[in-house]
Amino acid sequence: MGIGPGAHDLVTPRARNVLMASDVIVGYHVYLKLLEPELKEGKEIISTPMRKEIERCTMAIDKVLGGRRTSIVSSGDSGIYGMAGLVLELLYSRGLIDKVSVEIVPGIPSFVAVSSLLGAPLMHDFAVISLSDLLTPWDRIEKRVLSASEGDFVIVLYNPRSKKRDWQIKRAIELIREHRSPDTPVGIVRNAAREDESVFISTLSHIDYERIDMLTTVIVGNSSSRIISDRIITPRGYTEKYI
Ligand code: SAH
Repeated sequence: MGIGPGAHDLVTPRARNVLMASDVIVGYHVYLKLLEPELKEGKEIISTPMRKEIERCTMAIDKVLGGRRTSIVSSGDSGIYGMAGLVLELLYSRGLIDKVSVEIVPGIPSFVAVSSLLGAPLMHDFAVISLSDLLTPWDRIEKRVLSASEGDFVIVLYNPRSKKRDWQIKRAIELIREHRSPDTPVGIVRNAAREDESVFISTLSHIDYERIDMLTTVIVGNSSSRIISDRIITPRGYTEKYI
């Protein structure tokens, strides 16, 4: 299930009900910390470190096989770079896909929280691209960034930078600049809907890479996006057509 970007009031009522009805909650320890204590009371909590995705899902499946109602949590939505796909794949590979009941509970994706903090950058077609090349070859990521840029999509960059992966974001911006003007708006949001939230708006030619890490989402506007009064707006076209 997805528990949203962080704030307690951005956990959907459905996710809340499902958590309340669970015997076991499994998740990456940082995400479990985001949950209200009340939702965890009386539950078996299995907290796992980063990069232990297969172990995390296997533990959750084994709990279910042991007869316990189990929730495995992702931040944002679990079907967007989250655990939903892996749970289904593992169930399939173990021959359990039709034997175990699975509900995928939607969550508010973090790019939606990010976009609302920046203004209205996603009013037109957009592409979400993860810059993590841990599981995806970098040349495929480059191709997607370039195609999105050429296609004039607003571009949402997830997993933009970590301590070990520090050049990918610069390269991605270089590729985007091949098809977009230097004054294109760029929004950088860190820890949206969490303590420590920060929002920064600049342009393609003035990006402060030090503001960007794994807790950050970067949104690059399309050729019509504008900065108006500290907000990014991507016009849908109403004012050009009707005013
Ligand atoms: N399932 C999540 C995405 C997980 S990928 C979703 O639906 O949003 C992890 C990446 O998401 C991070 O590297 C970062 O780029 C972005 N992210 C997650 N939470 C965020 C937040 N609160 N603020 C800004 N970016 C966030």
